[in-house]
Amino acid sequence: MESADNFAFLLPFILLTFGGAFLLVARYERKPALSWGIGYSLAAAAFAGPALRFWVPIPLVALACDTLFIGAFYFYGQAMLERFRRPPHRLVRGGLAAAGLAAAIYTDLIVGDLELELLFNDLATMLLLIIPLVMCLRHPRHWLDVVLLVLAGLVILETVSRNIFLTVLAQVPSDLADFATSDYAAIMRTTASVVGLLFALTALATVALDILSRYRHAAERDALTDMLNRRGFEQALSAGTGQDSHSGAVIVCDIDRFKQINDAFGHQQGDRVLVAFAAILNRYLPAQALAARFGGEEFVIFLPGYALAEAGVLANMLRLAVASYGWSSLGIDRQVTASFGCAAADATDRSVHDAIGRADANLYAAKAEGRNRVVALVRSERDAATAGKDVSVSPVRSYSR
Ligand code: GH3
Ligand code: MG
Ligand code: MG
Repeated sequence: MESADNFAFLLPFILLTFGGAFLLVARYERKPALSWGIGYSLAAAAFAGPALRFWVPIPLVALACDTLFIGAFYFYGQAMLERFRRPPHRLVRGGLAAAGLAAAIYTDLIVGDLELELLFNDLATMLLLIIPLVMCLRHPRHWLDVVLLVLAGLVILETVSRNIFLTVLAQVPSDLADFATSDYAAIMRTTASVVGLLFALTALATVALDILSRYRHAAERDALTDMLNRRGFEQALSAGTGQDSHSGAVIVCDIDRFKQINDAFGHQQGDRVLVAFAAILNRYLPAQALAARFGGEEFVIFLPGYALAEAGVLANMLRLAVASYGWSSLGIDRQVTASFGCAAADATDRSVHDAIGRADANLYAAKAEGRNRVVALVRSERDAATAGKDVSVSPVRSYSR
C-alpha cells in the first residue's frame, strides 16, 4: 500500500498546484479562472481529507470530504457555464448541492452507511457536472471546448461505471475505518486523477487561450470602432495564404470635414459618427474584405480578388449609404459624407501598401474635386484629369457623384 500512500499524498498536491495556477491566472482574467481555482482547491482538500482520520472521528472526516467534493463540483460546473457563456442557474445547482450535503449528513452521521454515502455523493457531484455539460453541449467556440466537454463526459462516465462496477460486482468494505486503505479508494484515486488531470490541463489551456485572444484582440483592434487597426490589418494580410492573396483592390476612405463635426457637436458626438461610419462599412462590405481604421477618420479596405471597377462600384455604394444615413438620430443635423479613393493591387506591387498609396492619391483627388465622391482612376487618367482634360470614364471611376 506504500505506493498508494505516496499517490494519496501526491494527488492533493497536484490538484492544489492547479488550483493555485488558476487563482493566479484569475488576477488577469477573472472568469472562469476563479471558479476553476476554487474548484481545484476544494478538490485538493477533499483528497487530502482522509489524512485527518488519525485525529478526527471518521464520520466527521467523511462528511468534510463529501462537502468538499460537492463544493468542488459546484465550482467546476460554474466554471464550465462561465466558459461557455451560459446562464449560471445558481438556484438549481445550489439546491442540488444542499440536497447532496443533507444526504451526506444523513449517511455519514445518522446511519453511518458507507455504501449509501458513496452512492449519494457520487450522484450529487455527477449531477452538478451533468447539468452544465448538457447546457454547454451545443455551444463550443473552439476545438479545445469540445475536448473539455468530452473530458467532462468521461468524468461522469468514470463515476457511473465505477459505481456500477464496485457496488454491484465487488465487495465494498462495510467498515468506514477500512475505506481509506481499501482497493476502492485506490481505484477511485487512480481513475479520477487521470481523467481529472486531463480535465484540469484542458481547462487551463482554455483559460490561457481566452487571455491570449483578449490581448491579441486589444493589440489588433481599434478600441472605439472594434475594426482592425493598422497592426491587425498587417497581421490579417500576412495571414492570407497563396500567391494571389494580395491581388485585388484597395479602397481608402475619409470622412469629409470631420473636424467641423467635432467643432460643431463635440468630440463625443464625433466618436459616435466614427462608430456609425464603421458599422456602415461592416454592413456593406463582403465577408472576405479586410477593413481597418488606419487613424483618425481614415479607413482602408482590402478586397481580395476584386477588380478596380468592382471596388469603384462598392465604394460608391458605401458613399451613398453614408450620405443617406439618418445622422440626425445621433443628433447631427447635417449630412455627413465621405470621400473614397480606389486602386488595383497588382502582381508587380511590392506590397499592398503600393496600392494603398495609389488609392490615397485618388482620395486626395476626390477631396480636391469637392468631396463626397469616389475616384478610381489609374495614374495616367488622374494626371489627365488634374491637367483639366476630360476623362470619359464610368461615373464611379471619374470625379462625378
Ligand atoms: P477633410 O474633408 O479634408 O478630410 O477634412 P477633415 O476635417 O475631415 O480633416 P482633418 O484632417 O482636418 O481633421 C480630422 C479631424 O479628425 C481632426 C481630429 O480632431 C479628428 N479626429 C481624429 N481622431 C478622432 C477620434 O478618434 N475621435 C474624434 N471625435 N475625432 C477625431
Ligand atoms: Mg476627413
Ligand atoms: Mg483624415
